[in-house]
Amino acid sequence: MTNLQAALAALHTQQLYRTRRLRSGAPTVRTTIDGRSYLTFCSNDYLGLAAHPAIAAALREGTHRYGVGAGASALITGYSSAHHQLEEALAAFLGRPRVLLFASGYMANVGILSALLGRNDTIFADRLNHASLIDGARLSCARLRRYPHVNPQALAKLLTSPRPLHSRTLLATDGVFSMDGDIAPLPELARLASEQSAWLLVDDAHGIGVLGPSGAGTVAQFGLTSEQVPILVGTLGKAFGTSGAFVAGDVALIETLIQRARSYIYTTAPPPALAHASLTALALVQSGHERREQLTALITRFRQGATALHLPLLASPTPIQPLLAGTAPRALAWSRHLERHGILVSAIRPPTVPPGTARLRVSLSAAHSAADVDQLLNALADLPRGNSDGIE
Ligand code: PMP
Repeated sequence: MTNLQAALAALHTQQLYRTRRLRSGAPTVRTTIDGRSYLTFCSNDYLGLAAHPAIAAALREGTHRYGVGAGASALITGYSSAHHQLEEALAAFLGRPRVLLFASGYMANVGILSALLGRNDTIFADRLNHASLIDGARLSCARLRRYPHVNPQALAKLLTSPRPLHSRTLLATDGVFSMDGDIAPLPELARLASEQSAWLLVDDAHGIGVLGPSGAGTVAQFGLTSEQVPILVGTLGKAFGTSGAFVAGDVALIETLIQRARSYIYTTAPPPALAHASLTALALVQSGHERREQLTALITRFRQGATALHLPLLASPTPIQPLLAGTAPRALAWSRHLERHGILVSAIRPPTVPPGTARLRVSLSAAHSAADVDQLLNALADLPRGNSDGIE
């Protein structure tokens, strides 16, 4: 396949080629990758639950009770009492009438948008929304209008353009932006959505578990109601430490998704044992105040240290703390520099982020210690910067 080879070679030349690293063992903050031990700052395991013994024990118990795989899609015979219990517990946690589990956040977003909207409809989306929201919008065939990042004024202007009569309008935003770490201006977005009779979808993949009272996320942190944010998406693969995702909303929303979301209907239900394990993860998330406090202390420590070093830190109040490198080669050089110090932070390059904004995405976890953060700051102190790094 020569054409493919040429395209791959071009990615290499632009330093945009991505390689997978081989991890052995659990995804803890000290882990072995490609045979070498590293201190890592690049997982989404914000509360340090991904290797938690109680969740691992619940997974084992779940396999004894429910077997390994679901055996069928949810609408055939794959929906088990483990899924049901987790849905009920998540609904109570988020204060919503119903929850529907998906196999992943990617599948949830793609399924929701394509189930709710069609050719005649319009989706307004923050320019930095997660890829799954963009792909869902494309799949729905609705008109996609993207507004500048966290800019409700620009969105308000876009919203004044005429839309077809009797069409649906949905406003979609990440709660916490996955590559910038900043928080969406949800109260303003909710006001605009209500003025325009639009549905507001908040994908709080990086907020639920981390922010808000008992970790209920950005919507709860802003004190918004389920009427203001009728569609709330979360994932289990980040703060919960397991895998899978969910959407929370009213009965009509969830029943519509059960009838129409193709990424829910035409796929094997997630393993019930995993849902059983996620129930234990949810209990740990809800009682995880100390973990969240530890995380907040680490964020403050990292930001103070990085500011003192004059590092190009983005304004993020969350565990996602990006350092803007600009070019892909520079982001890679920074990542390699840290690797030489035994620290792993991945370089994030286009197309994951816009061109010219390649970065190191430092992500903090409650499983890190203050000494871990200091070790990272020490290694960042002599980061190759400017033209003297020989990479521009
Ligand atoms: N939404 C956002 C904002 C995300 O960052 C991600 C994961 N990177 C997803 C959805 C997808 O979630 P999952 O990993 O469960 O597919």
